[in-house]
Amino acid sequence: GVSVLLGGSISRALQQMSNSMIIDEKVLNDCLNEITRALLQADVQFKLVRDMQTNIKKIVNLDDLAAGHNKRKIIQQAIFNELCKILDPGKPAFTLKKGKSSVVMFVGLQGSGKTTTCTKYAYYHQKKGWKPALVCVDTFRAGAFDQLKQNSTKAKIPFYGSYTESDPVRIAVEGVGNLLCIGQATFDQAQAFKQSVAVGAMIVTKMDGHAKGGGALSAVAATKSPVIFIGTGEHMDEFEVFNVKPFVSRLLALLQELSEGTFTLRNFLKMGPIVQEISMLPGASQELMRKELDSSNLKLMNESQIMRIARGCGCPVRNVMEMLEKYKTTAKTWKRLEISKKGDMNAQNMR
Ligand code: GDP
Repeated sequence: GVSVLLGGSISRALQQMSNSMIIDEKVLNDCLNEITRALLQADVQFKLVRDMQTNIKKIVNLDDLAAGHNKRKIIQQAIFNELCKILDPGKPAFTLKKGKSSVVMFVGLQGSGKTTTCTKYAYYHQKKGWKPALVCVDTFRAGAFDQLKQNSTKAKIPFYGSYTESDPVRIAVEGVGNLLCIGQATFDQAQAFKQSVAVGAMIVTKMDGHAKGGGALSAVAATKSPVIFIGTGEHMDEFEVFNVKPFVSRLLALLQELSEGTFTLRNFLKMGPIVQEISMLPGASQELMRKELDSSNLKLMNESQIMRIARGCGCPVRNVMEMLEKYKTTAKTWKRLEISKKGDMNAQNMR
């Protein structure tokens, strides 16, 4: 069995369910609605959530539940399996072939983390004995090549790019030829950059700062391609092989925070730039600082606490105060969102 952490109100819904004598359709629906709400908040696409709900209803047999089986376990397992199913596109992940050169193209929105992630990807493979090289074909964003150059130099990975050439295909062909001295096959691959290429695999970035992990589910559904890695920070080694089951467990743990509706200061800080400052502290101070922030109640936070946090982060008191102000505003918005989500859910009565 897989042990699953389910969201607070989801757990409560299941708890009630396992204790109640009669499990009718309404009880099951209430529970599924609770899960639906949490999933939508975690940025999972509406259609996916709706299909999942339908599937769970098909799987979870009310007669079985009535027969006194462990109801909670049955439903819990069904949710877990459904989420795993969504993340498994049913086709193998793209893999690098031993003894051959492969060209991997990174595609993504501006700021999504391509430059950072391709370095992480190259660094990861370099440590495993591969000979990676990086080519910057982003001729659009200012400073893209410099950023890649900097990253590559730091990781001691050969790189190629151009300040003057504006045709990305040309740079790709030259770069790949230059770094690998390879033949026609790779040239052809590089040429294929011109056409829009089918997505071979995905890397979900910013899993650390993101309050939502559900986007990965929607992405797999949209591209029918598997996620192979996740980015968990800005540093070179904050990069993990993606595994469906642990990810779903983590996602469900996140749903716990969301379904409890608690927008904590700690959650807020996960999204803020202050995290960066905290992450530069030595390990022990980081832990202290996190404890401080976890236990801090915004309303009760006094001057000396603010000063302690500022000192711990090595940033001006003014920054901490600004951050707290932002937190207050966001918390208010969050509350409104919570309320309106509840309203939506009742209106849609998702079936
Ligand atoms: P690009 O425009 O797609 O090349 O994006 P960049 O690689 O320049 O990344 C944009 C910003 O996101 C940079 O500040 C990165 O440091 C940051 N970033 C990238 N990946 C991660 C990640 O996994 N976690 C966090 N916290 N930040 C990331």
